[in-house]
Amino acid sequence: MSLVVQKYGGTSVADTEKIKNVARRVVATREKGHQVVVVISALGDTTDRLLELAHSISRRPPARELDMLLSTGEQISVALLSMAIHELGHDAISFTGAQVGLITDSTHTKAKILRVEGGSIEDSLRQGKIVIVAGFQGVTVDNQITTLGRGGSDTTAVALAAALGAEVCEIYTDVDGVFTADPRLVPEARKIPRLSYEEMLEMAATGAKVLQLRSVEFARNYGVVIHVRSSFHEGEGTWIVPAEESMERAIISGVTHELGEAKVTVQDVPDRPGVAASLFRALADANINVDMIIQNVSEDNRTSISFTVMKEDAEKAAQISREVAERLGASGVTVDDGIAKVSLVGAGMKTHPGVAAQMFEALAERGINIEMISTSTIKISCVVRADRVEEAVRAIHSKFGLEKGVVFRE
Ligand code: ADP
Ligand code: ASP
Ligand code: MG
Repeated sequence: MSLVVQKYGGTSVADTEKIKNVARRVVATREKGHQVVVVISALGDTTDRLLELAHSISRRPPARELDMLLSTGEQISVALLSMAIHELGHDAISFTGAQVGLITDSTHTKAKILRVEGGSIEDSLRQGKIVIVAGFQGVTVDNQITTLGRGGSDTTAVALAAALGAEVCEIYTDVDGVFTADPRLVPEARKIPRLSYEEMLEMAATGAKVLQLRSVEFARNYGVVIHVRSSFHEGEGTWIVPAEESMERAIISGVTHELGEAKVTVQDVPDRPGVAASLFRALADANINVDMIIQNVSEDNRTSISFTVMKEDAEKAAQISREVAERLGASGVTVDDGIAKVSLVGAGMKTHPGVAAQMFEALAERGINIEMISTSTIKISCVVRADRVEEAVRAIHSKFGLEKGVVFRE
């Protein structure tokens, strides 16, 4: 008898009919003889509504209290799913993150999982029960409730799969798998049958929200096989596996986009050693993640430095940059939140010249201006105006012929 971890996202449990549908799928897996651990998200857009509620009371709600509030969403859905499974004549038991010993650090609203104790899950499985665990939440060693960042139920599922030695971690969602671009934006995007952890990491890191980035890191670190598939039908989805198991290596896997970043520019700074070091040290000390960085050509020994951060960090990043700018004798700091990032991901691009040129040509043909560029061995990202990003995704997708599927080496 093998153990399967299944995760159902918010859209898959948006109303009572859908919860009953999930219960039927879970029971069908159990009846095939598997032990089943289910992780679910809050119903529909519950987390967004709870966040709105918090912000209608306070402009800056304390992070600990936000976690207290947000974790309630998943507590509702696990209880309802357990009831639906009981209705079908099977034994199920629901648990919170704390009850299964999902121990995290104390970074409220984006906590990292430290370990999973999981004893209560194993006991219940031994008793023949279907186990249902609230996604997205954990507890600190001091017994404080934490959450794992938006999309965190994916990470709960992969962490449980790793801790329990599950055969597979199935991620059920409202699309059929991981596509060559967001299928909501590019209707002709194709489902990708297999992706390596590295390719999926870059896709998740550059905006493909179908899996939370940390869940893919976890899967890679512990060798958990992920199957992303539809919660509405039985068809095969996308398998995320170690590189050696993905049969052929794709040159290009997909185009992703990210609207969540803002650009901060420090203008007219002296061009001398130590300037970038003091700016980025100050940002790092404030726990701000910087994504892209660009320093302009120097004129008269003065230059400007631009970088991107998540929008929610932009205000704080600008404030820190202003303090540093003043010390360095820079003339000012500006924030631009009308940007977006479009990225092209593919493990084979590093040995295939011309990929970047072709991507830039796709943008040039539409008159879309590139404001920043960054590359890694398997990814190229460009910052463009936010109102042109959808067009940019479609242009690049079609330039590489991705409507026919991922591009393989000839
Ligand atoms: P869930 O509620 O199941 O966790 P999410 O909304 O978090 O679902 O993730 C699924 C969504 O991810 C899809 O509806 C789709 O719009 C979006 N998405 C973005 N990029 C991609 C991609 N490359 N492939 C598939 N889905 C994508
Ligand atoms: N409910 C949480 C969110 O909306 C976690 C999740 O769905 O994965 O971000
Ligand atoms: Mg999600």
